[in-house]
Amino acid sequence: MKQRILAVDDEPDMLILLQRIIMEKTAYEIVTTNSALEVPGLLDTQQFDVVITDLSMPKLDGLDILKLVRDRGQGELVILITAFGDYETSEKARELGVHDYIHKPFRKEQILATVEQAMEIQRARQAEL
Ligand SMILES: [Mg+2]
Repeated sequence: MKQRILAVDDEPDMLILLQRIIMEKTAYEIVTTNSALEVPGLLDTQQFDVVITDLSMPKLDGLDILKLVRDRGQGELVILITAFGDYETSEKARELGVHDYIHKPFRKEQILATVEQAMEIQRARQAEL
């Protein structure tokens, strides 16, 4: 089964960019939403290995998404997109069990390396089952 990514960002342009990077350079499937409120339903009905979420969003923000994913305990790894130097948020996210960060503005290579590292962890977990 193909490994899958859920990308959450309130800015559609960012989602288009993420989707293009993943589709051009990897074999992973990516689902995107610009509404954080859709995330619980997506996690209920589809399987994901990695959740990439923007930090700054209306209604539910990236920390809320992180907490929601972790509380459900289904094992998705969460990558948080933050502004560079937001140490307070980084600390909070670490406490909540974030897997990794991507700092804006990001380079394509950073996205790919961060996603690949998370996917490797998920493949290793899968192999242990
Ligand atoms: Mg945002």
